[in-house]
Amino acid sequence: MTTTAATNPTVERYAKLYPGVPYEVILKEDLLRLGLRFTPAAMEAAVGCRTQAYYLFSYNISGHGDLGEGVSTAAPEDITFHGGPYGMKRTWVRVVLNRDSPYVVDVVDGALTILEHGVPVAGVAYPSKPAYYGRTFADGIRYEQVIPLLYNSYAFITTFRACHYWGDKEECRFCDINYNLRELRKVTGDHVTPDAIKDVGKLVEVLAAMTEEPDPAKRMLTIIMTGGSIIRPVRGGPDNATDFNLPYIEAIRTRIGRRVPIVMITESQPMENIRRFRDAGVTSHNANLEVWDKRLFQIFAPGKEKYIGYDLWVRRLVEAVDIMGEGGVSPNMVSGVEMAQPWGFGTVKEAVASAREGFEYLMSHGVIPHLDTWCVEPGTALAGHPPIPLDFLIQADLAWYETWRKYKLPPFAGYGPMGGGPGVAVYGNTGSVDLGG
Ligand code: SF4
Repeated sequence: MTTTAATNPTVERYAKLYPGVPYEVILKEDLLRLGLRFTPAAMEAAVGCRTQAYYLFSYNISGHGDLGEGVSTAAPEDITFHGGPYGMKRTWVRVVLNRDSPYVVDVVDGALTILEHGVPVAGVAYPSKPAYYGRTFADGIRYEQVIPLLYNSYAFITTFRACHYWGDKEECRFCDINYNLRELRKVTGDHVTPDAIKDVGKLVEVLAAMTEEPDPAKRMLTIIMTGGSIIRPVRGGPDNATDFNLPYIEAIRTRIGRRVPIVMITESQPMENIRRFRDAGVTSHNANLEVWDKRLFQIFAPGKEKYIGYDLWVRRLVEAVDIMGEGGVSPNMVSGVEMAQPWGFGTVKEAVASAREGFEYLMSHGVIPHLDTWCVEPGTALAGHPPIPLDFLIQADLAWYETWRKYKLPPFAGYGPMGGGPGVAVYGNTGSVDLGG
């Protein structure tokens, strides 16, 4: 008789395969790659909590329409898991909705619990709302539609909610930004969908309200600003991400000062623009590289290759460290897309070797890439791809952490604490930040 997953949870099997890797890292990566379901009782318990308001990408495995009425907007934005049979420490994780996931959140003996194939693996807590949620502007737009709070820590600002890299020759193959905007307009209706372009006046008003949060557990740690690539004039205005975003930065610094870091995520920019960002008050500039292997970059990010090119993208990342400092240049890597078929590596070993080579090159030059576990989203060119092996994600996290320690680098700035072992980090998109301790 074979041992079934029902009697032997994944977290337990992998803890034996990877001694020294915390249970929390294993569970977090498995939740990010396979997603979560919520029972009706678990959805009922979410009423009044901080629900989904992020919406730049769907970051779900199932489409809005496949999840059941209202689930994609009423589910918690993120959760923490803790305790359970393995005594896990409080760990933040992004909620990835997947109606077919083996992981389900249910209410068991009155307590929110994650179960894998019906076996409890950890307790769950939903985030409560910060004080500014629910406030509205005169036109009915709610404050959280302008800036959601992620992980009780990040003011997440999408200045431009679309991408000018358009169609199958330009859009990144793993990205659903343009598709998701179209879907959101259908699901939530135009009257509640925030503009594709953020209003600067509303934005600073919400940030000012966020600085007044009375609960330290929901204190804004950082401002993360992002959006799609800009290569044409936006509403007759700027035709590049620097000129488009600088007025927001200047307005924020004027309104709330320099206390809070600002992470600015755009496509690769010339160094004079990085200097302009820094001088205006940006503390980190992240031009997301997405994948280290050059051939895969060209395939998976064809717009980035067409308008900038891999070699220039990498060179600028290295040069930007002289302007922003170590920790201030942290491109995202879509962890796992290295194995997307039919183009990617066929074995975990080769894929991890490529990821490690990238960490080595970038970190040895003071660039600290950060990982976001690949969520195979509907509406992308890679939709329907099978989940990436958990072994890859764990081994890539270890490679990241080992290289980061080797070069004695600081945390990538603006994402909160990391490297102190489970229970320390707030970043919910990768288990790599929960290693150490
Ligand atoms: S550049 Fe690529 S990853 Fe970024 S928003 Fe555009 S399509 Fe998506």
